[in-house]
Amino acid sequence: MTPAAKAPLFWECPSCGYLSKDPAFADAKTPCPECRASGVTKRRFPPDTQRLLDDRIRGYYRDGESQITVILGAALLEALLEDILDRIMAAHGADIAIRGTLLDTVRAIGQRLSRLFPDLTGVEFEDAAAELGYRDFPKRWRKVRQIRNAFIHDTPYRDVEGALDQTTALEVMVLLDQAYTLFVSLNNKFVADGRRHRGEAPHVSLHGGTAEDDAPKGPVEP
Ligand SMILES: [Zn+2]
Repeated sequence: MTPAAKAPLFWECPSCGYLSKDPAFADAKTPCPECRASGVTKRRFPPDTQRLLDDRIRGYYRDGESQITVILGAALLEALLEDILDRIMAAHGADIAIRGTLLDTVRAIGQRLSRLFPDLTGVEFEDAAAELGYRDFPKRWRKVRQIRNAFIHDTPYRDVEGALDQTTALEVMVLLDQAYTLFVSLNNKFVADGRRHRGEAPHVSLHGGTAEDDAPKGPVEP
């Protein structure tokens, strides 16, 4: 398997957060299929700062710099998945202070996904990923984190097999490619439900209950 030459480019509806790869969607005149907003300037996703980092990581991978690829790639993966959690919280009406506090109380990305994600969406991250066609993603990503952590913290994780070699680097790149598509799928399922555009008051709820009642494509029941 060969990683993509660069990060995919998506366009984002600023009204509801819907993301699309369709070049026609980039045009401000194209109405958003989710919230019907038109005449709005679409934003690029991933944003330029992430795209720049992604570019550099792919460069390191091609140069055979496997250690840097794994460490930076794992960091970008975490940033991406953290972003999606943050967007889901924002879609639930949580303001920046609440989101910051919540993320502070749960530090590790693995715990954030296993504890916050089901609270917010009503489904386990693993199940959501599987439903969107990425059944192996959570497990493979966990493995990469273990390898990275074993290296960084110099902890004898006895059950961790693997090193920061080119095999792990390739695995990180493949996961990164998948993460963008997974991000967009999770976003369109749990964030871009058009609630804000319809002018409904945001719910300051950190649990899925209230949001499910009125969302046209609400979270799947557990
Ligand atoms: Zn929209």
